[in-house]
Amino acid sequence: MARLTRKSPPTRFHMFRGEIPAKTPPQDYGISVSRGFPGGIDTGFTKPKIVARAALKRRHVSFSGPVNGALRNAPFTVRNNQVIVMTNSAAPHLLPVFARADIGFERGEGVWLIATNGDRYLDFTSGVAVNALGHAHPALVKALQEQATKLWHMSNLFQSPDGEKLAARLCSESFADLVFFCNSGAEALEGVIKLVRHHHFSKGHPERYRIITFEGAFHGRTLATLAATGAAKYLEGFGPPMDGFDQVPHGDLEAVKKAIGPHTAGILIEPIQGEGGVRSAPSGFLKALRQLCDEKGLLLAFDEVQTGMGRTGDLFAYRRTGVTPDVMSLAKALGGGFPIGAILATADAAAGMGPGSHGSTFGGNPLAIAAANAVLDVMVKPGFFDHVQKMSLLLKQKLASVIDRHPDVVSEVRGEGLLIGIKAVVPSGDLVAALRKEKLLTVGAGDNVVRFLPPLIVTEAEIEDSVIRLERACAALSSNKRAAS
Ligand code: PLP
Repeated sequence: MARLTRKSPPTRFHMFRGEIPAKTPPQDYGISVSRGFPGGIDTGFTKPKIVARAALKRRHVSFSGPVNGALRNAPFTVRNNQVIVMTNSAAPHLLPVFARADIGFERGEGVWLIATNGDRYLDFTSGVAVNALGHAHPALVKALQEQATKLWHMSNLFQSPDGEKLAARLCSESFADLVFFCNSGAEALEGVIKLVRHHHFSKGHPERYRIITFEGAFHGRTLATLAATGAAKYLEGFGPPMDGFDQVPHGDLEAVKKAIGPHTAGILIEPIQGEGGVRSAPSGFLKALRQLCDEKGLLLAFDEVQTGMGRTGDLFAYRRTGVTPDVMSLAKALGGGFPIGAILATADAAAGMGPGSHGSTFGGNPLAIAAANAVLDVMVKPGFFDHVQKMSLLLKQKLASVIDRHPDVVSEVRGEGLLIGIKAVVPSGDLVAALRKEKLLTVGAGDNVVRFLPPLIVTEAEIEDSVIRLERACAALSSNKRAAS
């Protein structure tokens, strides 16, 4: 009877490996462990690379031996007369570009996510600032169900009455005259970059194509948005970065002035850097950028993919800064969990973007538009942002008191609205993991920060609950630290 043992700790992949006789015909691999595996061996073979390759074979093996239930019908592959089996905790067919935690969710209710084993987690990730109205919000469910019975897709060859309505609403809530719908944040930023360049082209200055960006920024994972992001760790291995971006230190006005030249077309900035560690620009910086743009004829572009749609306590973060951009990107919370992105621009900024200059097959898809119109319906109701700000204040106060009690674990609260970061003293990944043990989900960010991004509908009781869990996680990390020293 086969003896299969698990070597790896229960991280992403559980790998099992056993010898099979050299002569076993391939069609026999799937028969049974007792015939296929005369004696199991454990090699601790856990590299995701191998898992990804193994997954390509797409075979399954059924075990008749006394093996763990999870092993039955597990995907496996054969290499050098050895069989490698993966249990159902692996995600063998997904490109392993994400370091996924070993929990799967199958349902959400408001601020809660329910795992496949029934455990309830307080979701302070909101799918990284996406589920602004929480999970399964009744208004969003209804809007999608209704739209699903009417029309899913009809292309941009035809008029889109609901898309027009959403665009008009976004314009009436913002500085913009025109909107382009797409499907993600990176796609919105790609469009922003094109629009900024085309503005100058259409005004007779094709040489003005360069955009100033900031260290610590994050604008997406496509080639242009990676070049705008400018972080070596994301760019390495993907060939020469796309030309056209001049990156300067965040908040350094003199560096911005120096970087402006005859080829400069605009400045691109997040009102608060999210992925970079919930970093706000120094006071007066955004105003100074606006002034510079006006003096030099540059476009000011705000990336509000993360800050937009209520996250910072108003519909758009720029409305709280007193600085109005010429172009803005949105995505994440715009569809409340349904993929949709948008570019918002003034008519002057968008000069030249005529038929054929840009496009997207799925952009403005009726399902996405229905979701986004429903999100806006909820957000523009009186009192919605008062609630966000009230919860923000409460969360910040409570977090500050945890910092007072655990200065060896956490050191600073940052951010606005419900885009909150706490700077960790311990490695931020350790804090995220300790919080996950307490069934509180949070997101890491740059600068050793842990982001608290609850759905904007979070209640006072849920905020208090989250802080109790944080307190417990900090206590555990403190005592680990003491034990280690
Ligand atoms: N811009 C900002 C500010 C972001 O935070 C992100 C994603 O985190 C993006 C752009 C990219 O968005 P997406 O992942 O939807 O492409």
